[in-house]
Amino acid sequence: MSQYDLIVIGSGPGGYETAAEAAGKYGMKTALVENRELGGTCLNRGCIPTKTFLHTTDIFDEAKAHGDIMGLTDHEKIGVNMAVLQQRKNDVVEQLRGGVAALMKKNKVDVYEGTGEIIEAGRVRVKLNAGGTEELEADKVIIATGSVPTIPSNLGGTDCEGVITSDEVLDLDVIPGSMVILGGGVIGYEIASVFNSLGTKITVLKASTQVFNNMDKELGRSLQMILKKRGIETISGVNVTEITGSGGPGTEGLTVHYTEKEEEKEVKCDLVLLAKGRRAYTEGLFADDTADEVKSIETNRGKIVVDEKYETSVPGIFAIGDVIGGEMLAHKATAEGRNCVAMMSGAEPPVDMDAVPACIYTSPEIAVVGVNPDVAKAEGREIMVKKYTMGANGKSLLSNQERGFVKIIADPETRKVIGGEMMCARATDMIPVFSEAIVNGLTIEEMGRAMFPHPTFVEGIGELLREIHL
Ligand code: FAD
Repeated sequence: MSQYDLIVIGSGPGGYETAAEAAGKYGMKTALVENRELGGTCLNRGCIPTKTFLHTTDIFDEAKAHGDIMGLTDHEKIGVNMAVLQQRKNDVVEQLRGGVAALMKKNKVDVYEGTGEIIEAGRVRVKLNAGGTEELEADKVIIATGSVPTIPSNLGGTDCEGVITSDEVLDLDVIPGSMVILGGGVIGYEIASVFNSLGTKITVLKASTQVFNNMDKELGRSLQMILKKRGIETISGVNVTEITGSGGPGTEGLTVHYTEKEEEKEVKCDLVLLAKGRRAYTEGLFADDTADEVKSIETNRGKIVVDEKYETSVPGIFAIGDVIGGEMLAHKATAEGRNCVAMMSGAEPPVDMDAVPACIYTSPEIAVVGVNPDVAKAEGREIMVKKYTMGANGKSLLSNQERGFVKIIADPETRKVIGGEMMCARATDMIPVFSEAIVNGLTIEEMGRAMFPHPTFVEGIGELLREIHL
């Protein structure tokens, strides 16, 4: 029986960052248990693979669309070799995985390759991937087992050949001719953007008529227009009833049946991507001989319920990341883990959870943080909203970017910054400028004291702050 201060189950961005912080910053003797690859969904089947693809398709799109005016020769012959792109993605993932392993080693975190089963509070049995078991004991256990794609149970045909989830789509080494995406969330549209650029005919079928739930109307409308202009067809307000046939790249063998305004319709395609969200993953976490108290840990629709210290209904067992629900984001999982270990060590939580940036890696990118102007108005809250159009931003113009915008949301009385929205190139890299202002309680004037380098995209924020006073 190996003895630890802390056992972390799951090595996604929640688990591995938490283990490193617990051991490196707070001196806890820490074990990390992972039954698949280090890095979890984010590194192996999520954030990193999708962004590696998007990097290639962005360059491809730009060369095709603007190669002539940029002085590129032979740009019209440009193409994408999917097998090479797959290899590139695998290389990036492998390199970063090596980085996670090195981080664990540096912080003296013991990594166990296997499935962690909580037998009772403070006792974890690892069913080792290599065979056999190992028993671990610790004062505290953190569950960071993440999430998996939701397979709609009430939809017939999800087991047909060619019906896939984001896990499989990221391993395709052939470009499909057509793909129907069920569900129009962030993950669905990111994958739509990649394969639309590669030449796949994309149809998004979604039940809701709203673009994205947590986005204000102006951003939603602008994004809808851009997606349409790029040839991504979205059919909203539909009810998908069944999938039939057998698909695969180049087959057009699948048929998706749906009703739109009570009319029965169908669309044929090579592949169907199920992108109707993700569910908390707790399978394998409890064994037959797990204590009843642990087995009946409080959950809400499958998500583990925690208090403000991330402690579950079982004292000594904590949970963070996708498995506790809320917005399923890598940086949120990491922040929760950091705050959790800080609080269990008697320290102040280092990260302010009131400003969680949300990003959509479409082209142009979208990033929001803080107060949503539509929600604030609906609640009758007085807000001040100012907008700057990126059309006048030199870097946007010289790099052929779509006309985007930056918005600041502030309290009209105190002039404190309470939100930021960006729809422009590199929006996802720049949104922390607003996050910093929000979490540090800066006013518009305090935020504007910093100098913004020229020519840059982020200069757009500087211009916005200056224009408020003109
Ligand atoms: P996970 O990353 O899911 O890791 C959980 C780990 O626990 C897994 O490795 C799993 O194998 C392991 N595990 C489970 N049960 C056990 C057990 N009993 N024993 C041992 N190990 C176990 N988020 C962003 O912020 N930005 C993005 O751009 C972004 N893009 C995404 C794109 C896609 C296609 C997808 C699918 C997701 C994306 N996400 C993105 C979401 C992000 O990946 C998740 O929010 C994040 O990975 C959650 O981290 P986590 O640590 O909670 O869990």
